[in-house]
Amino acid sequence: MNKQKAVIGLEMHCEMTSNSKVFSKARNSYNELANDNVVALDMGFPGTLPTLNKECVRKAILMSKVLNCEIPEYFYFDRKNYYYPDLPKGYQITQMHNPIGVNGSVIIDCGDYEKEVFIHDIHLEEDSASLDHYSDATLIDYNRSGVPLLELVTEPCLNSADEAVAFLEEMRRIYQYCDVSEADTKKGQIRCDINVSIMDEDSNILGTKVEIKNVNSFANVKETINYEIKRQTELKELGRYNEVEQETRRFDEETGTTIRMRGKVDAIDYKYFVEPNLPKYKITSEYIKSIEKDIPLLPRDRKLKYINDYMLSNHDASLIIKDKEYANYFEECVNIGIEPKIAFNWLLVNIVSYLKRNDISLKGFYLKPQLLKQITDKIDDNTISSKQAKEIFNECLEKNIEPKILISNNIQLSDIVELEKLIANILLNNQKQIEDYKNGKTNLFDYFVGQVMKETKGKANPVITKEILKDKLNS
Ligand code: ADP
Ligand code: MG
Repeated sequence: MNKQKAVIGLEMHCEMTSNSKVFSKARNSYNELANDNVVALDMGFPGTLPTLNKECVRKAILMSKVLNCEIPEYFYFDRKNYYYPDLPKGYQITQMHNPIGVNGSVIIDCGDYEKEVFIHDIHLEEDSASLDHYSDATLIDYNRSGVPLLELVTEPCLNSADEAVAFLEEMRRIYQYCDVSEADTKKGQIRCDINVSIMDEDSNILGTKVEIKNVNSFANVKETINYEIKRQTELKELGRYNEVEQETRRFDEETGTTIRMRGKVDAIDYKYFVEPNLPKYKITSEYIKSIEKDIPLLPRDRKLKYINDYMLSNHDASLIIKDKEYANYFEECVNIGIEPKIAFNWLLVNIVSYLKRNDISLKGFYLKPQLLKQITDKIDDNTISSKQAKEIFNECLEKNIEPKILISNNIQLSDIVELEKLIANILLNNQKQIEDYKNGKTNLFDYFVGQVMKETKGKANPVITKEILKDKLNS
């Protein structure tokens, strides 16, 4: 058998953030009390009509631009007809014929190399309700019904499970950096359909693709693809490649395998037609320009900036841009004058481990860059050691006290002139004790030390204090 290569195409669904749902006035928020953010339209009541949410269109066009897609002059919606309990209308409003973006591409980071992934199209649609299955019943929660979704369809141009996951991670970052979605897989905001085939490495004829529906974690995406490549390759090795059918399968988490759902002949005919309750929309070039202005620096560009301008290694820069909050924190540190490498170390060593230990995010982290700088500045001018800095860091977070207050409380008083003045004053007020000391009560020495400590609230450098005291008392 000729050497084989895998071919993968992804259909990535991502729920967008917005104030209201894509076609109704209900709040776009579903991780709370079930069936609370619902209006009649979300439940498919007759007589209700959709109205398109401008915020969602804006975000869809923004993503389309970010992915270097061609944007049509007009766009409209289609009806995808099927019945399922989570789809009360009996159809989903989507974009089949005239998506908001086509023929795009994005460069992804595959660890040792970068790869350009080609985007077939990106389109705007609505999510279905969610079903909660129990042993004796299934409950429907309409909060998710009508939540805006962006679907992104890649060309069949990925060649391994790792590349597929790298693509999803890059897209998750881009969604987050652009404030288009929280893109949180734990909340089910990203779901994928995965298409896998194998082919002879030196051929240009694609193999038969198998589609695996609705995989919802990146770990499962990886497992699904690896399993499917193995299954198809083994069948081919055995001369049974004809058993690889164009079919729809699902991933079974328990066994780590894929299971057939339906074949091509049973494929659902969705009877697409143009959604008659929504008009055709014109996208003017001025509108696109106004959106382009809002495109922030993307994660890959930020990484290049950290490498080129801040002299971070590729590895370190990659770690920072993994999380938009980290990148923002890091940049703020650098902007107010903390050395990039020092900011990197504080962020990725002390701060990240603190956040993990306390299970909080940078958003709720007390020590903002301005406060961190109070610590790093004092290391720079040798007021505190790096060991003291770490103690101050921990104490600040424990007590929510500004570092500069703790630092001034902690700095030892080592100034000889100042200590001499202070001690002279103390001795002046303790004539009786000096007399007793000189007459042999030498254990009074500790009393004098105690007085100095009391006066300086414990900050006097004990070694210098004792030297000065010895000097004065024995003269
Ligand atoms: P369909 O007509 O079944 O919807 P499409 O050609 O529209 O198929 O492609 C759907 C998805 O399947 C896309 O993400 C595409 O990249 C992927 N795909 C198409 N052909 C293959 C193939 N031979 N191997 C892997 N993925 C493929
Ligand atoms: Mg298709």
